[in-house]
Amino acid sequence: MRTSTSKFSAALALAALAGLAAAQDYPTKPVSLMVPFAAGGPTDTVARTLALGMGKALKQTVIVENAPGAGGTIAPTKLKNAAPDGYTLLLAHIGMSTAPALYRNLPFKPLEDFELVGQVVDVPMTLIAKKDMPAKDFKELLAYIKANKDKVTLANAGIGSASHLCGLLFMSTIQTELTTVPYKGTAPALNDLLGGQVDLLCDQTTNTTQYITSGRVKAYGTTSKARLDTMKDLPTLAESGLPGFEVVVWHGVYAPKGTPKAVVDKLTAALQTAIAEPAFAQKMAELGSQVVVKTKATPDGLRAQLKSEIDRWTPIIRKAGVYAD
Ligand code: ASP
Repeated sequence: MRTSTSKFSAALALAALAGLAAAQDYPTKPVSLMVPFAAGGPTDTVARTLALGMGKALKQTVIVENAPGAGGTIAPTKLKNAAPDGYTLLLAHIGMSTAPALYRNLPFKPLEDFELVGQVVDVPMTLIAKKDMPAKDFKELLAYIKANKDKVTLANAGIGSASHLCGLLFMSTIQTELTTVPYKGTAPALNDLLGGQVDLLCDQTTNTTQYITSGRVKAYGTTSKARLDTMKDLPTLAESGLPGFEVVVWHGVYAPKGTPKAVVDKLTAALQTAIAEPAFAQKMAELGSQVVVKTKATPDGLRAQLKSEIDRWTPIIRKAGVYAD
């Protein structure tokens, strides 16, 4: 009995040593970074830019893999079931804090089921419309929406996406229900807006900036507290008559629960190196976004954000009585 116990302890010690050695060598092969939305969208753009920087810091390729669907909840579910070895990661946004209230049967608990690596970047949103929307400013848009509420359509990137959240807040603030049209991400939603198949979309500046500045869509306001440096002429929705209307899409990197601390530490260091690169900050700034300060690009920084955002959004969503399933 004693022999088998000591054999067992020795085996455990050996396994722990092997784990430590693997963590020290990490990463010895490409790392996959999952994205919960379609390729070509805002979360995908942040992930691809970050993957280059983290890959450089980790001296390994970081491959972006899109796992869209179910309002962005498929990718975190996959992450929960992935091996905790640091080779499968997730870049997710504000949706991690709204999903617990939106989904009655969410297969994961954002605060409990993952190792947190750190926050990345904060991105404001813009309320945009198809090019031939007749309204010339927000006041006219509001009048148009109220007069045509039975036929105006509002696209989103899926139930639980940031654009869905912005749309919910918008409809409840103007006290008007519109027909919403969900997609698997911003890329397909924006495509249909450009084609004039849907009327309105509230989405991240990461993708909307280029279409606003080139005049391919009409913009009616930003969801930021102050006007954006990249679009000084565009008023905030708050100053246009929706006081307090603010949605900032924050992003975080997650790893499976049980990923060795040495690996998480390496990932946090790589994240901090990547976002400190001037080229990263410049690209994000051109897209109207703001890289987080170093203290937020940490497990504790992400935990604090996730917790305070869950606390902020849960009562708002419960009050709106919206469920995704
Ligand atoms: N912008 C999307 C959202 O509203 C997601 C995406 O395609 O990145 O959540």
